[in-house]
Amino acid sequence: MNDPLPPGSTIGILGGGQLGRMLSVAASRLGLKTLIFEPAPNPPAGQVADQVTTAGYDDVAALDAFASSVDVITYEFENIPTAALDLLEAKRAIHPGRRALATAQDRADEKTFLEGLGLRVAPWAKVDGADDLSRAMAEIGTPSILKTRRLGYDGKGQIRLKGGEDPQVLWEQINAPAVLEGFVDFTCEISVIVARSTDGQVVCFDPGENVHTDGILDTTTVPARISRSQATDAVLLAGQIVNALEYVGVLGVELFVTTQGLLVNEIAPRVHNSGHWTQDACLIDQFEQHIRAIAGWPLGDGTRHSNAVMTNLIGDDIDGWAGFDGAVHLYGKAEARPGRKMGHVNRISPRS
Ligand code: AMP
Repeated sequence: MNDPLPPGSTIGILGGGQLGRMLSVAASRLGLKTLIFEPAPNPPAGQVADQVTTAGYDDVAALDAFASSVDVITYEFENIPTAALDLLEAKRAIHPGRRALATAQDRADEKTFLEGLGLRVAPWAKVDGADDLSRAMAEIGTPSILKTRRLGYDGKGQIRLKGGEDPQVLWEQINAPAVLEGFVDFTCEISVIVARSTDGQVVCFDPGENVHTDGILDTTTVPARISRSQATDAVLLAGQIVNALEYVGVLGVELFVTTQGLLVNEIAPRVHNSGHWTQDACLIDQFEQHIRAIAGWPLGDGTRHSNAVMTNLIGDDIDGWAGFDGAVHLYGKAEARPGRKMGHVNRISPRS
């Protein structure tokens, strides 16, 4: 095991959104400092971090200075340009590592990796042009979803196919390397938030049940309405994924629960929106667990002491700020645009 970073050390975080903000709060509680790297001015994380670097991912001098000022580097989003990572990695450890990031950045690589572990995913095919798409549509059928391989999130970069679409027109619309995925007839969606330390300790939070609206997470409810054996399957496969990637940090695994078992939808190499309930229903939450992992500390006890429902506040949902019951977490964003994550509310009740 690497020597743990002592309190007073500095964590560098790429990205200054709400995840970076909540990571900074967790780090600060452990006596660690944070430096945020973010191209946009006044990031939400900047309000609570020790320092912010405002610079682009192509600013070599800024990246170099950032790496020199921190003891370890992590990130809150997976689409960091490769050249920036190369530069940073030459100076400081980046957790989670490159393999996890590369795997999660590309839906085709991700599915190939998961299938290689013997895990199940929705039927899928690579699509690099209208001809591929035509073949994939014949093979997979409809309903199905065409998704860009890279840079998609919250349902963006996706087109739903109902049948009868013209592959040429669809290809022009998506206009990027993609995958076609069969539509899964799931009974519910769940996710597992799993943490792995530098010396291979693995801790999972209880699976949460997720409801999405318009491709964006709306609520996470814990416990999920799944059987004990499904819950066991879910945490075991999450453990298998982080071990295979020699992962360090927190990872989110999104799963479809079907009558034929669990299918992996996607993995996110970072703290995850569907893990926000842990802030109020566990002694150690996903943010602290991530900071502990990347700082080389032993992981904490993520046992759930309460049931929880996390509700995202999207766009002008936040206007109700004065009236929410439960634990309110607001992200300090100035402007409430439609579809923008502004905060969340955790409501807890005695554990069942
Ligand atoms: P994604 O960005 O891939 O996580 O997709 C966002 C949401 O769209 C998922 O959480 C599901 O609710 C839905 N979705 C995505 N892919 C599929 C699929 N193959 N079958 C059914 N629903 C899907």
